[in-house]
Amino acid sequence: MLLCNVCSAELGSPVYHGGEHTSITTMNKVVAGQTRIFHCRTCDHLQTEELPDLERFYAEEYSINESGVDDDQLYEIRNGKEIYRSEHQAAVALDKLDLQGNPKILDYGCAKGATLRRIVQASPTVEPYLFDVTDKYQSYWRNFPKPAKSASHKPDPAWAGSLDVVLSFYALEHIPRLADVLAEIRALLRPGGIFYFIVPNLYANWADFIVADHVNHFSRGSLTVMLERAGFSDIEIDERAHACAFVVTCKAIAAGSHTGQEIPGSKAAIDRLTEFWSTARERVAEQERALAADSRIAIYGAGIYGNFILSCLSQPERVACFLDQNRFLHGSDLNGVRILKPEDCPEDTGTVFVGLNPLNARQIISSVESLQSRNLTFYFLD
Ligand SMILES: [Zn+2]
Repeated sequence: MLLCNVCSAELGSPVYHGGEHTSITTMNKVVAGQTRIFHCRTCDHLQTEELPDLERFYAEEYSINESGVDDDQLYEIRNGKEIYRSEHQAAVALDKLDLQGNPKILDYGCAKGATLRRIVQASPTVEPYLFDVTDKYQSYWRNFPKPAKSASHKPDPAWAGSLDVVLSFYALEHIPRLADVLAEIRALLRPGGIFYFIVPNLYANWADFIVADHVNHFSRGSLTVMLERAGFSDIEIDERAHACAFVVTCKAIAAGSHTGQEIPGSKAAIDRLTEFWSTARERVAEQERALAADSRIAIYGAGIYGNFILSCLSQPERVACFLDQNRFLHGSDLNGVRILKPEDCPEDTGTVFVGLNPLNARQIISSVESLQSRNLTFYFLD
């Protein structure tokens, strides 16, 4: 069963079948395989099944504007003057992104970086960053109007949480695993940083329907669902600024005000829970094997998580006590083990197993001063 790239709902039967061996790509080439298109009734996304050899297609055939730094696509002729696509993209971006100071701007999936190049030329205080999955454009990156930071294959981990703006031009329509890419982009932005992107608007250019390498055909509905799930707010979708395209602006929500990438009850959320619990026992066993034979252990948290940890230990007699903040539990026993206040943790304890909800366990433990001031090793469930 095929699932929606945006909301993970099951897609049912296709709304359209292309002819045998007549799938057409962005490069206007006919490729093997039959185009099948699905409509997600949950989020209004239209989705084309991936080409059977999509990876080979990108490696060998996908190349737009490769003949030189000035090679571009004509966007329109205005008052007798040719306006190129990157020129228009830069003008619209500058108009929408109220740039101030020395903004760090990344062109994500930049190819030659034509649009960011024009932005830097128009606004020289911009600090340019370039990223593409391939390294074949590096000669263009070296000749930028001012030195640009760059990375290929993977964005540089040093950029995490620091960028003011991430730009993406005509990339998301090609990507089946949208949640992964959006999580990566969000992690690169500082809290409140802006993600600005352009994707085709099928409803303004019907040819986009049959282009076989456009796996995603967005609607206002599916764009909104996709961005909210990925931790973005202040979503603005403009259908007029760029012909036959959606120009989208949104802000990265600060970490902590967003609880995760998954919607409760979604397949992704359940997969994560299943993975966590089916490997938790083995993680505790592994942590226990790392201990010295005469170690004295405390388990922080006398609830379900703590009890689960106790049940996983092969030598539970090494557990001196449970530690818990709940004063109503102090002095009582759980499975024969005494429950104490954290500050009463015995002096000879060397290791604390943390039996707390993994979503906030580290934050809670870092706030327990009576334990932080001692030389203890903490083991967490995740
Ligand atoms: Zn959907």
